[in-house]
This record gives sequence, structure tokens and C-alpha cells, in this order.
Amino acid sequence: MIEIINKSQCNGCHACASVCPKQCISMQTDNEGFLYPQVDSSKCTRCGLCEKICPVLHKKPIDETMLPKAYAAYNIDEEIRMQSSSGGLFTLFATAIIHRGGVVFGASFHDDFSVEHSFTESVEGLAKFRGSKYVQSKIGDSYKQAETFLQQGRWVLFTGTPCQIGGLYAYLRRDYDTLLTQDIICHGVPSPLVWQKYLDEKRKENKTISAVSFRDKEKGWKQFSMAITFANGIRYSKTLGVDSMMRVFLSDWCLRPSCHDCAYKTKNRHSDITLADYWGIEKVHLEMFDDKGTSLLLVHTPKGEAFLRN
Ligand SMILES: Cc1cc2nc3c(=O)[nH]c(=O)nc-3n(C[C@H](O)[C@H](O)[C@H](O)COP(=O)(O)OP(=O)(O)OC[C@H]3O[C@@H](n4cnc5c(N)ncnc54)[C@H](O)[C@@H]3O)c2cc1C
Repeated sequence: MIEIINKSQCNGCHACASVCPKQCISMQTDNEGFLYPQVDSSKCTRCGLCEKICPVLHKKPIDETMLPKAYAAYNIDEEIRMQSSSGGLFTLFATAIIHRGGVVFGASFHDDFSVEHSFTESVEGLAKFRGSKYVQSKIGDSYKQAETFLQQGRWVLFTGTPCQIGGLYAYLRRDYDTLLTQDIICHGVPSPLVWQKYLDEKRKENKTISAVSFRDKEKGWKQFSMAITFANGIRYSKTLGVDSMMRVFLSDWCLRPSCHDCAYKTKNRHSDITLADYWGIEKVHLEMFDDKGTSLLLVHTPKGEAFLRN
């Protein structure tokens, strides 16, 4: 039976709660706003599956022999690129999966601007996943939903933090030919509670929020801004060094405890593809820099490589 003794050893990936055959594990919020599993011991049959599949307790070995292939790239669709945090590669890959009749999973805002994983089967539906949300996304039933689509033989692109991809593989306990995974180089995930308190502060002045972008490129990709649009038409915009949410995030003051001890910050990954900002691109490939966003793309597996070639 899973029990959290040391919070730095739980990523909150939801694999244990998703796999429990008795559905007796729920994810409960702690005083910092992070989710942890809690077992209803009256329903638990002590089958041990939750512990057996936990990706932190049983780390899947990573093949360290092959160096990932690294690329600098950006989406030539200027509009999509400007809406994206880096070079807009996520939308390119996701569109290719949708065109194969597939399904894409990613992190999107809920009505109250909390962040949750969900899926889409349409190109238009990808808009909700575009742009980084610097808050831990709740996985919910996404692993189970992805498994259902995979069992139907459909293509699935599952995107998220490296620990969420680790959680997915732990839950599935096997690979599927039609599963493609894309993670990110992850600074760590801020507390959903800190995020909601920050939004409450912002709502005090202008009430209803209609849109949020953590990575607005109005002042450029390098000097990106937090931008909040209110229903009354007022727009808040502050660059990363000034906005209080971005400052506590980048100073590591509100990250999940497990992020400070992350087992997934490795060069080689379980994912097929890793995306990130190619910071410093102007020093190595000046021709790829125009301050609109350049992605760093790392390819880890033959499946990722074949997908990229297509
Ligand atoms: C919490 C977090 C920390 C990051 N830290 C770094 C870093 O330190 N260095 C670096 O170079 N890059 C970092 N990135 C990645 C970078 O910000 C871009 O997300 C990435 O380069 C993809 O950009 P894009 O332009 O291709 O696509 P975009 O359209 O900008 O990205 C969309 C993708 O991001 C995913 N995503 C958005 N928010 C979340 C979330 N909360 N949890 C999980 N997935 C999410 C979506 O599911 C989708 O796959 C981080 C991203 C996140 C979400």
C-alpha cells in the first residue's frame, strides 16, 4: 500500500491512483497545493500494484549508450510560432498526429485557470495546449484515456513534464507502436495554490480574467512577459524579471518538493522527443535567431527519429 513518507520522493504523477484495481487511491491536496496519493485502507486489498508500478520506487533504467540527436528548429508558421513559448514545434508534431487520425494529450487551462491534462482529436483543439503553463498540471484520468485510445490502435501523442511521461509508461507497463511521447527540459513545477493566490490578487483590481499567457512575446522571446487579459479590456503585462509569479518560479521558491530532487533531469530520457527553449542559439547559430523563439529538439529513440523524418 503506497504511503508518502518523504514528499521529495513523490512527483504526483497519478500512476498509482490510475492503476489501482479497487480505485481506492485518491489524489489529495496538501497545504502547499500539491497533490499526493491517499489510500482508503478500508477498500484496499493489499495487492501491492501501486507500489510495484511507482516510477520513483522502481526506476526504469535509461539507455545511456546513445547520445540524443540535437536540433535547433522553429515552425515557419509565424502566427503559431508567436503563440508558442519557444519555436512552436509542439503544434507541428501534434498536427501530424491528428492528421494520422490520432489523439493529442497536453496541459490546458480550466475555467478558473487551474491547469489540467486533457486530450483533443482536432487541429483546432490544439490551441488550448499551446504555450507553457508554469504550474503543475493535474493528470486526472489522462493515462487511462490514453490507454483506451492505444488499445483501439490509434496514434497517441502524450506530452508533459518528464515525470508525467515516466508515470505514463509506469501505468501502461508496456510500449505501444502508436504511442509517441514528448517531454520538456523542465525547470520544475510551481504550486497550483501559489498560482491561484497570485490570480486572486490580480482579480482584486479587474475582476474577471479572460486570457493568460506566461510567455507573451510582445517584448521578444528572451524578455518574455506574463500577460493577463481581463474581461473589462484591461491588460496586465510584466516581463519575467518583474512579474511576481515568474520571479518566485525562477527563484525556485514555489516548486514541488520532488523537483529539488528530480530523477528525470537526465540527458537521455524515456520519452521519444524532448522540447525546450534553445537559449544561447545566437552564440552558435546566429542565422536561427530572430528573438521570436527557437526550439531545442532532442530525439532519443528510433521511433522519435522516424516520426521526425516523416
Ligand atoms: C513547467 C515547465 C518548465 C519548463 N522549464 C524549461 C526550462 O527550464 N528550460 C527550457 O528550455 N524549457 C523549459 N520548458 C519548456 C518550454 O517552456 C516549452 O514548453 C517547450 O520548449 C515547448 O515549446 P513549443 O514552442 O514547442 O510549444 P508550446 O506550444 O509553447 O508548448 C506546448 C507544450 O507544453 C506542454 N505544457 C504546457 N504547460 C505544461 C505543464 N504545466 N505541464 C506539462 N506540460 C505542459 C503542453 O502540453 C504542450 O505539449 C518548460 C515548460 C514547462 C511547462
